[in-house]
Amino acid sequence: MGYVSELADRMKLFFDTEDGKKYIDEILSGKRTILINLDELEKWDANLSGAIINEAIKYGIKAFEEALKEASGASDVEVGFYGDCVPFVKVHEISSKHIGKMIKIRGLVNRTHFIKPMAVRVVFKCRECGIDTMPILQESPFALTPPFGKCEGCGISKPKYDVVEELSDYIDSQEFSIQEAYEDVSGRIPQRLRLIAHKKYLINKVYCGDLVEITGVVRLIPEYRRRSKSRFNTPYMEVHHVKKKSKDPESIEISKEEEEKIIELSRKPNIYSTLVRNVAPSLYGMENCKEASLLSLFGGVIKHRNDITVRGNIHVFFIGDPSTAKSQLLRAVAELSPRGMFSSGRGATAAGLTASLNRDENGEWIIEAGVLVLADKGVACIDEIDKMRKEDRVNIHEAMASQIVSINKAGIHSTLMARTAVVAAANPTLGNYDRSKSVFANLSDFPPALFSRFDLIFILIDKPKDEFDRKVAEHIANNDEVDETIDRELFKKYIAYAKRINPTISKEAKELLMEHFLSIRKRMSETWTEETTPITFRQFEALIRLCEAHARILLKDEADVEDAEDVIKIFNKFLSDISFDIGTLEGGPSKSSKEYAIKMIRSIILNKQTSDGVGYSAIIEEAIAKGISKPRAEKALKELINTSSIHLVSSDGTENYYRTSWF
Ligand SMILES: [Zn+2]
Repeated sequence: MGYVSELADRMKLFFDTEDGKKYIDEILSGKRTILINLDELEKWDANLSGAIINEAIKYGIKAFEEALKEASGASDVEVGFYGDCVPFVKVHEISSKHIGKMIKIRGLVNRTHFIKPMAVRVVFKCRECGIDTMPILQESPFALTPPFGKCEGCGISKPKYDVVEELSDYIDSQEFSIQEAYEDVSGRIPQRLRLIAHKKYLINKVYCGDLVEITGVVRLIPEYRRRSKSRFNTPYMEVHHVKKKSKDPESIEISKEEEEKIIELSRKPNIYSTLVRNVAPSLYGMENCKEASLLSLFGGVIKHRNDITVRGNIHVFFIGDPSTAKSQLLRAVAELSPRGMFSSGRGATAAGLTASLNRDENGEWIIEAGVLVLADKGVACIDEIDKMRKEDRVNIHEAMASQIVSINKAGIHSTLMARTAVVAAANPTLGNYDRSKSVFANLSDFPPALFSRFDLIFILIDKPKDEFDRKVAEHIANNDEVDETIDRELFKKYIAYAKRINPTISKEAKELLMEHFLSIRKRMSETWTEETTPITFRQFEALIRLCEAHARILLKDEADVEDAEDVIKIFNKFLSDISFDIGTLEGGPSKSSKEYAIKMIRSIILNKQTSDGVGYSAIIEEAIAKGISKPRAEKALKELINTSSIHLVSSDGTENYYRTSWF
């Protein structure tokens, strides 16, 4: 202890300095939590701050606490440390040389536990004689340490002891863990680290999805082999300070020089198509998917109307044959997004895609965040989304529409932010995409109602091999002809820079979008029924978002007619790609045909549906009133269910209620 006292004596002098004195004043005015900025101590004596950083557990923190106690006269002050002088270490770089030292790490909170009382001073009762011990200070972070040697009452060596709860002192502690952010990982699997907080000011302060910079001390949890402590250990961090980092695009640093480069780039002719190609320059073709991804990377503007929030994020979906390069595209998009994440629908972890309440290895409840929460304010790229788990199928609607994930289970209610754009991909259920069937029938395992959450959907069909090979060869041969390749880091900054702009839409552009939207609706209603079809604004909102994103890509404060025209082009490509072929519906089948019955029933549901759907008997009744025979109507309804064009929303025991799956 000699060295600790010697250090403490030197540290005590710090409290006579101006920087140090303010901490004593805080304590004297009643504060019981003091956060020490180590940069101030470093300025006074770098050896002292060095002792706290490099010999944190052994001497540094003990000495500082002793010095503070002597200087202030208060013995119940909680001390935490932070500062620029604390070295930053990436989570995957933590090694044995960091044990017992103070470091700084960063990442996303991916798991939180509930608060647990932790024993600090424990009174033990001897089972032999019933005598209570003096309170024993517990220093080991995990194991309970009973008194050494003989019992003072009965003299028996190492008797069995019980804890006397009412005489012992406890503090709250909370465990959580973080996962490295995508930018620190560069293609590897993100590493995780356990963190334990037991300072009062840290309890219940972090939530799943938070982006944090944490200062703390690296410590070890022994691993057990054959029920005894082994030589192997798992590192964890004892937390001193948590700094929440902003996820806004403004938080990404852009130098003056980079800004100039970005603006110069934005003024190049054909910059839009250059950026589209640069989403994944090594992949041949897939122009529609690349353009959709680009629009999603930039996103539209979030709007608050009265008490409703309309999302600005653009969700896109690619359905395609197994050999098409969907995964490579998704990985490229995740890399470009300033807060991107890549995951498979199967989910690499128990958290799945959204969030879940699970029990950990000790049987305790934990909240775990999935990729939609971790990519909050970025893009979540989800491959094989059709393989997602049952819980995610329920939660993903809310995440995509309301941009939150709620947990309601086992009496626990929690809401996590998921202001995330989704770029998803799936393989057709039966291997290859069948153009003769609807998109719903091609993806029969996928919840039909989820289709309408996507702003753009594209289908990728594997081209005959010879033709494809020739095109790829051409692509490689002409590579030098393909206009410039944009540096990935600059592209990333370009996105962050553009996201600071919140473009409005000019009156003319808005009118053009509205006109286009109404014409689609009109053609739908002309084909399906004489009555007007109620207008769902979901698709209009999609057009607005896409238009805003388009203007952002060009760094424009206002989206104009040119933006609107481009957006209408890609929107039409999407409608025709999912076989929403307006042209073929024109003219219409004869009234007695099966096709007519199917279209009529669909339009009846479309007209009458509320969020609870339309009842079976009401649908059939209306169809009969429109001159369709009852058996034909029933058959048509069945067909619509089989092809997933409509889906069951509820049932009250006597009757089923249906809604359309699209529009
Ligand atoms: Zn005893």
